[in-house]
Amino acid sequence: MEICAICYNLFNHSTHRPFSLNQCGHSFCYVCLKKLPKKECPLCKQIFQRINLNKQALELIIMSEFDIKIKKLKNLTKTLEEAFTYISLNIDDEIEQINAETNEVILENLLNKLIFFKQNLDSIFTEILEK
Ligand SMILES: [Zn+2]
Ligand SMILES: [Zn+2]
Repeated sequence: MEICAICYNLFNHSTHRPFSLNQCGHSFCYVCLKKLPKKECPLCKQIFQRINLNKQALELIIMSEFDIKIKKLKNLTKTLEEAFTYISLNIDDEIEQINAETNEVILENLLNKLIFFKQNLDSIFTEILEK
């Protein structure tokens, strides 16, 4: 993804939207352009009159942000599958061990594993819902 040459942040669709200068076409964040002391491109020094939202770049950004969300959802599915596989593979063993060890320890172990999976899922959900 493209980076603003003034603040070195990646362009995004919210706080760092790319705006291009009408003379040279170089793109910077809106906030960065507003802070420039004069209407001169920081990269090529050409004087500009207007700035325009770089719709093409913004479209690419939105698509790649969408891709990231899809990847996170795929990871979530993978985590869920792993959790279920883990539980289904291990539950028999764990139950067998109940005879050997105290019930309390086994149940606590299982509970801790489930809490761990839940925390993973929570953080993935939070990340997805953040934007
Ligand atoms: Zn910037
Ligand atoms: Zn320029």
